[in-house]
Amino acid sequence: MVRKAMVTKSATTTKTRSSRGARARRLSAAQIHTLFARLAELDPNPSTELHYASPFELLVAVILSAQATDVGVNKATDKLFPVANTPGKILALGEDGLKPYISSIGLYNGKAKNIIATCKILIAQYGGKVPHDRAALEALPGVGRKTANVVLNTAFGEPTIAVDTHIFRVANRTGLAPGKDVRAVEDGLLEVVPAEFRQHAHHWLILHGRYVCKARKPDCGHCVIRDLCKFPDKSPAE
Ligand code: SF4
Repeated sequence: MVRKAMVTKSATTTKTRSSRGARARRLSAAQIHTLFARLAELDPNPSTELHYASPFELLVAVILSAQATDVGVNKATDKLFPVANTPGKILALGEDGLKPYISSIGLYNGKAKNIIATCKILIAQYGGKVPHDRAALEALPGVGRKTANVVLNTAFGEPTIAVDTHIFRVANRTGLAPGKDVRAVEDGLLEVVPAEFRQHAHHWLILHGRYVCKARKPDCGHCVIRDLCKFPDKSPAE
């Protein structure tokens, strides 16, 4: 009985310590506010680096951007969109006519198939427009939660946060919203990002991850949130 009580007490102590440890790795509400205020001061109106001029162009660009760089996607769409930038025009090109425009992008065969299928649905069900609705977006071929979040945020001004590899890294390293998978990080961010910063949080965090908090070599010496960040392996200041 005594032994059982000791074991229970020890387990409770370990649990308490580990939840204290998890809390210590998280930023406080005040620190999170400061973090976004600094990113906002650097870049008050951040946006995607993908080239687009309509919700449809953005949707196509985001479908193409899976496992590809924005620069690579822009090179392809800068040639494609002047020729075909509506579902009808892309359907007129057809899958074989679309492929040469996007063949420099990884997985282009599957992406061409998805874009053609998506165009057919947009015309048949939404009058050729991109639906302003998460479920309808996620039902389109080649469109997952992340793509839907980007379109909802960037084309329709919804305060969604699409978690890509950059945001996942920044949220975990800094202690902003640590999580084991992208959905846990997205839910965590939606909980902690102050309402006034939620609209642009997606782009601030992506750009910070892409240019400063880089995967292999974070540039901690030039990071404006260095003093707040909980990452234990920061690179030294120069
Ligand atoms: S201090 Fe370093 S690890 Fe932390 S956010 Fe800045 S670049 Fe990333």
